[in-house]
Amino acid sequence: MNRGKFFSIFRFKCPHCHEGEFFVDRNPYHLRHAGELPERCPVCERKYEPEPGFYYGGMYVAYALAVAVFATIYTAMIVLFPKAPLWLDATLVIAAIVLLAPWMYALSKTIWANLFFSYKGVALTEKERAYAAARAAAAARH
Ligand SMILES: [Zn+2]
Repeated sequence: MNRGKFFSIFRFKCPHCHEGEFFVDRNPYHLRHAGELPERCPVCERKYEPEPGFYYGGMYVAYALAVAVFATIYTAMIVLFPKAPLWLDATLVIAAIVLLAPWMYALSKTIWANLFFSYKGVALTEKERAYAAARAAAAARH
């Protein structure tokens, strides 16, 4: 069932089928396995990493998330507490970014994956079946 990209992103589910877990450990604050993905989705068995280094691009997403946190907190402080000293604004921004870092790191990967993969369901699509058949035929010829 297609539950949308937001579901896949925020619930850390497979971007292909929205069923399988995306991470080895779905709690991003269990730092031992932070950001670790299985090679394939445990439900639909599609690959999570089409090529080595695929998720380096997620750094841009992580950066954008950090900027969003910075802008949100800084703006909120200026609007709500205009007389607060700058060091307090800076401390709050840094504390928020440090505390949210594991969550944002996980999100950066699910967002990045969802930019490139679309929902296909658990079963192979027509196109994937044709591709697999063509590959099997090519392998049989050699
Ligand atoms: Zn899947």
